[in-house]
This record gives sequence, structure tokens and C-alpha cells, in this order.
Amino acid sequence: MTRNNSDLPVRFYNPNQQAKMTRFLDIEERLRLALQEDKIDIHLQPKVALRNDQVVGYEALARWQEGEFAISPAEFIPVAEACGLGRDFDRYVIKKVFAALARSKTPLPPVAINITAQHFGHPNLFEFIHEALQEFELPASAIVLEITEGVLVDRVPTTLENITNLRASGIKIHIDDFGTGYSSLGYLMDLPIDVIKIDKIFVDRLEEERGRHLVEGIIAMAKAMDFEVIAEGIETAIQKDLLKAMGCCVGQGYFHGKPQPMFSVIM
Ligand code: C2E
Ligand code: MG
Ligand code: MG
Ligand code: MG
Repeated sequence: MTRNNSDLPVRFYNPNQQAKMTRFLDIEERLRLALQEDKIDIHLQPKVALRNDQVVGYEALARWQEGEFAISPAEFIPVAEACGLGRDFDRYVIKKVFAALARSKTPLPPVAINITAQHFGHPNLFEFIHEALQEFELPASAIVLEITEGVLVDRVPTTLENITNLRASGIKIHIDDFGTGYSSLGYLMDLPIDVIKIDKIFVDRLEEERGRHLVEGIIAMAKAMDFEVIAEGIETAIQKDLLKAMGCCVGQGYFHGKPQPMFSVIM
């Protein structure tokens, strides 16, 4: 009682906390509406084979701007997850991407869809994706799923089931932001995954000796374990050339192409 009494007023009148909470609630309310009213757009960023600059895939990235209100996914995705909208949001993105792919007149390389952490532990994930592929008459190879390593570290049984079922059905699993999570490498020994995405923070420091050694090490480890490697956030020709020389096959970043509206990519 006394402890609460002394904590409460401080918390309540902290203007910073108050502003954060107001912002959070504002985003939550707008997000519910935006999903209902189809106000969030999808952009696609190319993934490129470093040896010949051919586009070998795309990543779907959400873009939300309504008039004056513009907000980056780095801010609103965590809000979606915290207020239990992560799964609804993922389903919205999945349906939008699938609908565009189904309309496409030309074949497209796989489009990667980011899946929120909680959703990946949900028992309906596999069924939902499986049914959506059937509904839009798409093969499993039309998509891949990106998840962060934090999802794997807890080893939730449903997560493992989802990975196993998804891969058995032909959908590849990419580990996003590899090396940046609060995580142990132990999951790599047990879990069947396909691709490791080297995070931009490592690519940014490739021109430093220690940064280069670290990335070389990650690539060597991935090769030894039969994972493919995709480097994220490549912004310069120097970074691209270093990665290529290290044996990294695929890259993604502003150097090769910024995310573009999905309708301008899928005709
Ligand atoms: P992510 O999945 O790691 O996506 C890569 C982020 O890096 C994207 O930011 C992309 O626009 C940005 N990026 C790519 N190349 C470069 C580069 O060369 N330089 C720089 N500075 N940035 C680059 P974005 O779109 O703001 O998304 C941030 C994060 O929000 C994503 O990180 C992902 O975790 C999440 N996110 C975005 N869209 C979705 C979505 O549709 N569903 C879910 N569940 N998460 C999403
Ligand atoms: Mg991603
Ligand atoms: Mg990433
Ligand atoms: Mg990220």
C-alpha cells in the first residue's frame, strides 16, 4: 500500500510518460481504423544477386501515411504487437500481398513478408497462410517469411510446429536482423531455417577491420551450416563489393533499390 502510494503520483504526473501513453493510445486507435479502412500501403524492396545485380526476391514493407499523419513501421509495429493487433496486422499485409501477386501478369521472385513475434507462436498461423495461398491460387514458393531471432530463442512448441509445417509445405524461413537480438546462438543448432539476414548495423561497419572480420565469421558459419546469407542495408558500392568478395550472394539496400509502391512493381 505505502509503496504504491509513493509510486503512483510520480508515475501519473511524469509528463514524458504521459506523452508516450497518449501517443500510444492515439496510434492504437488510428491503427484499428486504418486496418478496417485499408489505409496502409505495401512497398516492395528488391533483393539482388550480388554477382549480376539480378532481382531474386522482394521484401514487403508497410507504409502508413494519412494526410498529415505519417508514421514509420519501426514505431507502429511495436504498438500493434503491444496492443494485441500484431496478428491482425500481419493478416492484413498477407492478404494485400497475395491479392497483388494473384493479379500479377508476370511471374515474380518470392516476396518476403515480415511476421510479428507473437503471431509466429500462434496455432493458426500455418493454417491461415495455407488457406490464403489456396484462396489466391498461389504456390508456396511465391512467398518467404521473415522472423526475428527472438521468436526462436524461447522455443515455444507452437513456434516450432509452425516452422516445421511451413517448411514442409515449401515456405522458406528467413531470420531477420540476425545478430542484433537478445538471443543465444543455440537455436541455430536445432531449428530448421533457410536464410540468415545480416543486419544493417554490421554492414555499416564493414570498412572497419573488426566489422569486416565479424561479417566474414557470420558468412563462414552460415555456409558451414547450409544457410544462405542476405546482407541488409547496403548503401554503397564499397559495401557491396566487400560482401561479394566475402561470398555473400544476395544483398538488399538503398544501393540496389529503395522500397517502391507495390503497384509500381507488380503489374
Ligand atoms: P526489417 O524487416 O529489418 O526491414 C528492413 C528495414 O530497413 C526497412 O525499414 C527498410 O526500409 C530499411 N532499409 C532497407 N535498406 C536500407 C538502407 O540501405 N538504408 C537504410 N537506412 N534503411 C534501409 P522500415 O520499412 O522502416 O521497417 C522497419 C521494421 O518494421 C522492419 O525491419 C520490420 O521489422 C518492421 N516491418 C515493416 N513492415 C512490416 C510489415 O508489413 N509487417 C511486420 N510484421 N513488420 C514490418
Ligand atoms: Mg524484414
Ligand atoms: Mg532486418
Ligand atoms: Mg528490422
